[in-house]
Amino acid sequence: MERYQHLKQTDPEIYDLIRKQINYESSTLKMIASESFVSFSVLEACGSILTNKYAEGYPGARYYEGNEFADQIENLAIDRAKQLFGAEHANVQPYSGSPANNVVYRALLKTGDKLMGMPVPSGGHLTHGWKVNFSGMDYVQIPYGPHPKTGKFDMDQIRQTAKKERPKMIWVGATAYPHKIEYKDFAEIANEIDAYLIADIAHINALIIAGVHPDPVPYCDVVSSTSHKMLRGPRAGFLLSKIEDRLQSKYFSDHQLNLAQRIDRAVFPGLQGGPHLHIIAGMATAFQEALTPEFKNYGVQIVKNAKKLAESLLAKGYCLAGGGTDTHLLILDFRNENFTGKDAAKALARSGIIANFNMVPDDPRSPFVTSGVRLGTQSLTTMGMKEPEMEKVADWIHRVCQNITRIDEESTKIRQEIADFCSQFQIPGITKPC
Ligand SMILES: *Cc1c(COP(=O)(O)O)cnc(C)c1O
Repeated sequence: MERYQHLKQTDPEIYDLIRKQINYESSTLKMIASESFVSFSVLEACGSILTNKYAEGYPGARYYEGNEFADQIENLAIDRAKQLFGAEHANVQPYSGSPANNVVYRALLKTGDKLMGMPVPSGGHLTHGWKVNFSGMDYVQIPYGPHPKTGKFDMDQIRQTAKKERPKMIWVGATAYPHKIEYKDFAEIANEIDAYLIADIAHINALIIAGVHPDPVPYCDVVSSTSHKMLRGPRAGFLLSKIEDRLQSKYFSDHQLNLAQRIDRAVFPGLQGGPHLHIIAGMATAFQEALTPEFKNYGVQIVKNAKKLAESLLAKGYCLAGGGTDTHLLILDFRNENFTGKDAAKALARSGIIANFNMVPDDPRSPFVTSGVRLGTQSLTTMGMKEPEMEKVADWIHRVCQNITRIDEESTKIRQEIADFCSQFQIPGITKPC
């Protein structure tokens, strides 16, 4: 908290709430699969005076003067993104993951066009064509999802749907799919029907960097990502793409823009004004951290931890959607229990395990209560936890679930045990030196 001394003087109310959030995050287990801890370096870049600068446009082509250093910062972020993912082109200006996805639609589709995407209850993101989102209002979603029995993609069925409906775009990516995604198989289908293939790696980018998840970059026209989930960067989005548009002659006979140019123009001036330079600087710093061997080890350990946690929970008799995990996330399946996903998520949170309730395949309960809880291991891995700690976490989860009706007494005890346990670890951006 010594980093917040000015705020303490000038705005004690906000200071106090940040202090409380810091205490909360450092005394609980952050198992929300989309969150992480950024380093002090990322925090400093994001908290810098770069927030003052207007830099509308792109490096070398700005609409405001005084952007010499802004250009260098954005170019560093772009170069590091390309190096990190082996991409031909990168745009680091999207304000977050959802705006990045909006860019892809505006760049490549016309209103009313069909896309294939996963509905939210199947594990897809709102921006993959869900009805209450712009993507479902302005475009037509052809749904697909994991097979209700196996919890995995059935590629024959997906190919059949694609051939029948002939969408112009296929979204591959999820917020709640615990298995590996074979982009190569999706690319074959996209090729057969002349559809753009878009990977959304918001959740799993660190696993791709670490080489423990298939790499979409060689197979997809565009790859969309956030930087604030397991990549441990600021809240932002970025887009990777090929330079050439393999479907240009089919869909854009009137234009002479390549794919990279189409994406850039859709970001600015299509959807956004000035880029958030302080956030782009933080992203560049996060990319630099992600280029290190330590980051690869982190990616590898995330999956080892998730597998260990899954194994420990299965051994205690719990069901997991899709039977287990080969990513960072697992979904506890409470369809056969007399409590809901929401009951469990609330009881877990009172006990110091912070997660979210989540639909399971073929969920008989409503999306407002659900039968599942989604857990991710990336933040615990960032704290330095390994397999033995995952067994402890499984024990706590088990105790909470067993005591769900009288959780108030038990949760106070567990909450304290977890706070003591967390204090043994260093947390980036909170307690970890450097
Ligand atoms: C989180 C997420 C997004 C959106 O990111 P926001 O920054 O919350 O807008 C998009 N796609 C997927 C798959 C995600 O998990």
